[in-house]
Amino acid sequence: MPHSPYAVLLDAEPPSAPDATLDLPPGIDVDALAEALDAVFADAPDVDQVAVLVGGQTIGGCSRARLIGAARGFGDSDGAVLPGRPRYQIIQLSCESCDFTMVRIHIDHRSMPLCRNGHGPVRRVSVDPAGA
Ligand SMILES: [Zn+2]
Repeated sequence: MPHSPYAVLLDAEPPSAPDATLDLPPGIDVDALAEALDAVFADAPDVDQVAVLVGGQTIGGCSRARLIGAARGFGDSDGAVLPGRPRYQIIQLSCESCDFTMVRIHIDHRSMPLCRNGHGPVRRVSVDPAGA
């Protein structure tokens, strides 16, 4: 989707080896996507590339370097990376059988996402809220 409003935040290439999957609700605005990505990279220092899904469809990937570059030219602020605490609480989900990791900003407990390697539903990883 070459004219996606999200393109400013996405790598030119599709994600090659994402460390995590960020699964976002359909219609999320680009500011919210930026905040969610910022929160992911802030919360997970060992994640360098995220595959981005919106409404269950992969729209591309975002690397840490890309987000930093986008943040510099993004919006009409002073160009600083988003200040303070993100609006979104990042929820990490992972598979018990492999290293598949997914990141969400919301969870529908009635339908937990599945491991892409076929191991069934992922489980929530408890994140220490005091570390935020
Ligand atoms: Zn798995």
